[in-house]
Amino acid sequence: MKKSPKSIVRRTPWPENSARPVVTPLQQTVVYAAESPDALDALYAGTAPGYTYAREGHPNADVLASKIDQLEGATGGIITGSGMSSIAAVLLALLEGGDHVIGADQLYGRTLRIMADDLPRLGIETSLVDATDPGAVDATIRPNTRLILIETVSNPTLRVADIQGIARLASERGILLAVDNTFATPRGFRPFEHNADIVIHSVTKLLAGHSDVTLGYAVARDPVLQKRISDTAVTFGLTPSPFDCWLAERGLHSFELRYDRAEENAARLADALADLPNVTRMLYPMRPDHPDHDRARTLLGARGGTMISFEIDGDRDAANRLVRAAGNISFAPTLGDIATTLSHPASSSHRALSESERKSLGISEGFFRVSVGVEDIDLLIGEFQQAVEAAG
Ligand code: PLP
Repeated sequence: MKKSPKSIVRRTPWPENSARPVVTPLQQTVVYAAESPDALDALYAGTAPGYTYAREGHPNADVLASKIDQLEGATGGIITGSGMSSIAAVLLALLEGGDHVIGADQLYGRTLRIMADDLPRLGIETSLVDATDPGAVDATIRPNTRLILIETVSNPTLRVADIQGIARLASERGILLAVDNTFATPRGFRPFEHNADIVIHSVTKLLAGHSDVTLGYAVARDPVLQKRISDTAVTFGLTPSPFDCWLAERGLHSFELRYDRAEENAARLADALADLPNVTRMLYPMRPDHPDHDRARTLLGARGGTMISFEIDGDRDAANRLVRAAGNISFAPTLGDIATTLSHPASSSHRALSESERKSLGISEGFFRVSVGVEDIDLLIGEFQQAVEAAG
């Protein structure tokens, strides 16, 4: 067999090009070859710009992070492999044994699990409290309280946290305030403008917007804290894949357009469904019958967001009928996709709770959450009307 003079496994030099690509290049590489030990030394020392190893950082993550920074009015944020890993990075970086953390009692299910199981296992005390009531937060603060973790808008009952009241308390007592802004997004609310110290996102949801990546984002206002969060994410390997970051950046380009359209749809769908005889409760922050309507107006302005939740008068059988009749709408426990998705908290996000615990949160078998997409609104209203009617 004829021997090839060169090994094809050696990397071919990139073709010269005097023009730049229009789209952010995807750098799907784990390692970066330096020119010399001196050049590598300079990279590690940070005296030369660039990258060494993808777990330590890569350009696709940095491009995406800088765009979300821009939306949040922040600098130096990081991208991690999921929303949960951003939460983990923040908690692991900023807490130590003996600290106390206060969390909102309606945090996302996995975040609640960190509060209930994982932090106590590491010797960190936790308490859960109603984030719409700063008085209750105040009463929960201990001398060792280090951090308060809340969500701007809660899942699935869309309660709006009293962020101003809690931020005031946190700054008076020297406690860090971390806000998971996944539901509201920076289009609806920018936590740094309301004195939050840390902002977290599940980029998986509205920011990326196409249900094809899991990613997270975390940023601290204080660069010293941000450095600790970044270092923790690198050390624990919470790094995202370049391809996921590339996809998310592409999704982010249409984020504001998608958000505005979905929000307009959500407001109209909420009003249309609220009028149906079988709908017993409609939750949308911009409706005057929402329990936090006044606070929503103050904090979110006219931005009610893209999520609605509603309840029909019926049991699990009725819920099954509704979902089957809404066959063209994906029944999936997620949110933020470009297309509308429907979820049923009693059988998904809140299934681990007892019926009475669910009841205390207002989640019955007839309770549904809708992540509204950008479809034609008349189509959506028609599909939901038919599904609610089919439930009986
Ligand atoms: N925070 C909120 C408010 C969420 O709804 C979710 C997921 O649904 C997460 C965090 C976790 O994000 P991920 O699924 O990207 O880990």
